[in-house]
Amino acid sequence: MMQRRKFLQMGSLGAGGFLFSKNLKANFKNNAVTKPLVITTWNTGIDANVEAWKVLSTGGRALDAVEKGVMVTESSINCCVGLGANPDRDGIVTLDASIMDEHGNAGAVAAIERIKHPISVARKVMENTPHVLLVGAGAQEFALSQGFQLEPQKLSPDAEAEYKKWLKTSKYQPVINIEKGKNETKGQTAFAPMKLSNGDWNHDTIGMLAIDVNGNLSGSCTTSGMGFKVRGRVGDSPLIGAGLYVDNEIGAAVSTGLGEEVIKSAGTFLIVEFMRQGYSPEAACKAAVERIVKRTGVAKAHTYQVAFIALNKKGETGAFCVQKGFNYAVYSNEINNLLFDSKYLYTDGVS
Ligand code: ASP
Repeated sequence: MMQRRKFLQMGSLGAGGFLFSKNLKANFKNNAVTKPLVITTWNTGIDANVEAWKVLSTGGRALDAVEKGVMVTESSINCCVGLGANPDRDGIVTLDASIMDEHGNAGAVAAIERIKHPISVARKVMENTPHVLLVGAGAQEFALSQGFQLEPQKLSPDAEAEYKKWLKTSKYQPVINIEKGKNETKGQTAFAPMKLSNGDWNHDTIGMLAIDVNGNLSGSCTTSGMGFKVRGRVGDSPLIGAGLYVDNEIGAAVSTGLGEEVIKSAGTFLIVEFMRQGYSPEAACKAAVERIVKRTGVAKAHTYQVAFIALNKKGETGAFCVQKGFNYAVYSNEINNLLFDSKYLYTDGVS
């Protein structure tokens, strides 16, 4: 146990994660000044980045890129973001999403049901209302007024299987969110990724940050939140300054992991403020992780995952997380959609 809990100092790009060309990856420095660029949480970011890149590489706006990008994940039936995701403990899928543009405008929805693209509803909240956040039935009503369709309330086969498994014990306890390893969701409330019927693993949140050719920043975040959560529970993802923050003068950050800890630390706002003080994106993410760990105490920090990615105004990127197992995808002219392993503090979740 002590060994697994060893504090780890990683190399400049973290350990492993070489999915594509090693040379390309070697050429990429986290401090490369490059735009346009998109950076996205988890391996699901690879597919989402492809769509975002279509917008960015043709001179489009970062805002359009971060919306179109995460819509790919929301509509994937093989994914835990969107309507195919794990339900709450009453068996209902409820979704949270937020979006921010280069003007500091923000929109979000929380606990919305039966809507395929919460991120697009969040954008409509931002653009078509004087508000930032709509929740529950009101958010759904607003979506319908904006032309969104009501989808059937039916669990995906993977979610149904996970839910039935969870019902056997109904144990309400978050587990560390890592890609693979010992923490399969054995009847626990799951921050851990869902194991899909095709054997893949998938995550319940996607966060995306982009800088466009004009140097403007935007960000998006969309999630089903915590699997088998208490009905009405809302995480960090739709909360501006917690799950997502963009300041076009400085940079942007987005989070994944145990939302309650991110909320209590105003995690992404904190990262942008660290970058304002001159921290690199990675150093800012690390400082925010350390702030969270300090607040929760080290013992508790060995039981949860929080992970951040950040992008600054120069196009520099970075990430940091509590537990080994978090990765993120980057796409730019120099980086052809590569997956990187994040640096981390602990290795508890890894077998
Ligand atoms: N941050 C999300 C939440 O707490 C969950 C996740 O990222 O896995 O709702």
